[in-house]
Amino acid sequence: DARNPGEPEFRQAVEDVARSVMPWYVTQDRMRRRQVLERLTEPDRTVSFRVPWEADDGSVRFNRGWRVQFSQVMGPYKGGLRFAPSVNQSVLKFLGFEQIFKNTLTGLPMGGAKGGADFDPKEASEAELRRFCHAFMDELYRHIGPDVDVPAGDMGVGMDEISLMFGRYLTLKNTWHGALTGKGSTFGGSAVRTEATGYGCVYFAELMLERLDRSIEDARVAISGSGNVALYAAEKALDEGATVVTLSDSGGTLVFEDGLDRDTLETVKTRKGDGARLSELADETGGSYRDGAAPWGEQCDIALPCATQNEMDGDAAKALADNGVWLVCEGANMPLTSDAAQTLRDAGIPRGPGKASNAGGVAVSGLEESQNAQRLYWSRDEVDRQLRDIMRGIHDDCLEVADGHADDMDYVTCANLAAFQRVSRALDAFWVF
Ligand code: NDP
Repeated sequence: DARNPGEPEFRQAVEDVARSVMPWYVTQDRMRRRQVLERLTEPDRTVSFRVPWEADDGSVRFNRGWRVQFSQVMGPYKGGLRFAPSVNQSVLKFLGFEQIFKNTLTGLPMGGAKGGADFDPKEASEAELRRFCHAFMDELYRHIGPDVDVPAGDMGVGMDEISLMFGRYLTLKNTWHGALTGKGSTFGGSAVRTEATGYGCVYFAELMLERLDRSIEDARVAISGSGNVALYAAEKALDEGATVVTLSDSGGTLVFEDGLDRDTLETVKTRKGDGARLSELADETGGSYRDGAAPWGEQCDIALPCATQNEMDGDAAKALADNGVWLVCEGANMPLTSDAAQTLRDAGIPRGPGKASNAGGVAVSGLEESQNAQRLYWSRDEVDRQLRDIMRGIHDDCLEVADGHADDMDYVTCANLAAFQRVSRALDAFWVF
């Protein structure tokens, strides 16, 4: 608390990792002497900057931008940019800290970082968004590059925003290299990047289900959110024969008692792309809209929280447990409060933690970097195959580390431990960091 005052999300993320790794860490005398855990909880650097831009009415606005470069021990810094009014240093430090371990689990050489601004793209016109993205890059470009730091998208930052920022980066640097990922797939991006986090989350859930002797086919899947991760998790769940019963946004939940169908999902994608709220879509989609409600009270077998941090509290987790949910697999970063996590642990419900189950997005970003470095594009099938392999690799690493250290259905401990062991051994070996 004294070291990171006013940063509850960051402390929550650190406590989650520390709880998992402590039994192993206390046996590592040299690492403890070298304060490896303590050093890992302090970012290499945090850059905070002013982002001034001109609104359509001619007034000058300014926001605060950040890049938290957390650790480059495992590779060049890598992590998304988030544009949302709720962005602050605590949120970005929690996300950057998680990113170190997530990126390590992919098996690709990527360090951990996160960035963004307390800017609301939903309130901006097209011209304002362009001016903001350019102003943001006017500072960020000094701190990034393909061998230094390669930002990607996150909440509020999709392909449009990445394209605007990448264009500005090219103007400022006069050098084409893949300093951002999430670019359009015909101009430097990778096939399957848009879908990767949602698809990867479903792939991970399927691997967990295999071990429970269950299948996603015909299972009722509740999904929160209706952004990038949620919509592609829904798409893949439908591909695999599941019945998707909910989507949500910060206003409420659309419930599809008999399941969402493919055409309706396409309608939601299009209408959300045009800025519609789910509350406006009940008639068009045949769903029932529950104002102010989260999806977790609905009868489901699998829950995929794909919206935002701390979206599921203890009561919501209890409702899921009481309804007999088989597993929870996180598409969002840290979507469960500490209470919710404890409730699921007590009820013996397996949980795929975001740093493992939503790593598909950053994994394909890593593949985008490789394609850019080779000046090649890989096919959709090739990237999807690699994504599946990477998700399976993460799942296998979780099981391997469990041997002797953790319950192998406790994916939270396993993922934290597998990643922490790898990063801490590197930090210990380098010593100078
Ligand atoms: P988007 O901005 O595309 O979508 C976010 C969705 O969550 C929107 O539907 C939004 O609704 C909803 N939401 C936001 N706040 C709340 C809230 N308090 N309660 C309920 N719903 C809410 O973001 P992404 O889909 O990209 O990201 C979602 C999560 O996944 C985040 O935690 C992100 O960090 C994580 N993630 C994303 C990756 C990616 O590749 N994009 C990679 C790995 C993790 P509304 O429109 O009302 O705000």
